[in-house]
Amino acid sequence: MLMLVAVGFLLYKAGYERFFGPTNPGNPHENEPVEAGDPDKGDMGGQPEVPDEDLTEEQLALFRPNELGKIPIIMYHAIGDTEGEWQRSRDNFRADLQRFYDLGYSLIPLNDYLRGQISAPAGRAPLILTFDDATAGQFNMIQSETDGEWIPDPDSAVGMLLEFERSHPEFGHAATFFIDFPAPFGDAKRVEENLTFLIENGMEIGNHTYNHKNLQSASPDVVVQEIGSLANKVRELCGYETLSLALPYGGYPKTDDGLASGEWEGQPYTNLGVLLVGAEPAPSPYSSKFSPLAIPRIRGSQEELDKWLGNFERYPETRFVSDGQASTVTIREGEQDKLDPSRIEGLKVVTYDLSPTSK
Ligand SMILES: [Zn+2]
Repeated sequence: MLMLVAVGFLLYKAGYERFFGPTNPGNPHENEPVEAGDPDKGDMGGQPEVPDEDLTEEQLALFRPNELGKIPIIMYHAIGDTEGEWQRSRDNFRADLQRFYDLGYSLIPLNDYLRGQISAPAGRAPLILTFDDATAGQFNMIQSETDGEWIPDPDSAVGMLLEFERSHPEFGHAATFFIDFPAPFGDAKRVEENLTFLIENGMEIGNHTYNHKNLQSASPDVVVQEIGSLANKVRELCGYETLSLALPYGGYPKTDDGLASGEWEGQPYTNLGVLLVGAEPAPSPYSSKFSPLAIPRIRGSQEELDKWLGNFERYPETRFVSDGQASTVTIREGEQDKLDPSRIEGLKVVTYDLSPTSK
């Protein structure tokens, strides 16, 4: 098994470098300007630009893309010295990153998933990291002892993520932080600086309501106020639009009014997706099972990670594997009826025979 994984990885590496690497003199896209993307996107979360060309038969056989498969969205809370019910230890978090990488995952931004624009490197499986509650262990900045410059604490999740990516560039560093106020990341004095650093470095800020409010029994007005005041605050501080919502305590309001969009104090907000607390991998964003207002996550605990990552190892055909191209949806032959037509508008659908006997 290990051998197969190693061989698979080498094949992947060879294919990846041949096709996308900087040493390839034949890459016709190499010197073209980067296409204008979303202004709120900044850097790409560490992922390389991918040329928009059809994959060859050989590449399909090598990468085995499956863009109707499921995607793990991991939900972390505190990151600290010890492991606990709502806390992952730093050592375990570092081990998680290595495990995700070794299992063939690369990080993608949550908003790319919600928009259905997935561009993980070809042959790799997208995985999304989310962090709730904005604790200091997730992210804080310290002053460098050498020149006094503010840098991410290397022992915070952001510091560990950026460090890991330096030696594993195709893993990326995309992550979404669902914040609330008054002191995101435990630091009321540097809110603007902290959020700006994350945004400028390709990470996302998500909405966790202004007061970390359980919306389960909240009136519709309170739902809009809690979501809208957080969105307005982040916009006012950083000019950034939050586009996703994680419900505190998983508390779902009586109706979904005001979740996808609303207006507070004259300012509109939009959530492309609403994330739940638990309890399984999320459907492909192209699938008819995709439900933007109820997106499941997997708790970042040992037990839940073992369970769901283990499931994907046992049933690899259930996992989303990227074709490397945001504008193409590559699926198995005969599965076209599982696509949601409204989710693939403007995208090219490619089908191929994924059966193990095909060459
Ligand atoms: Zn929370």
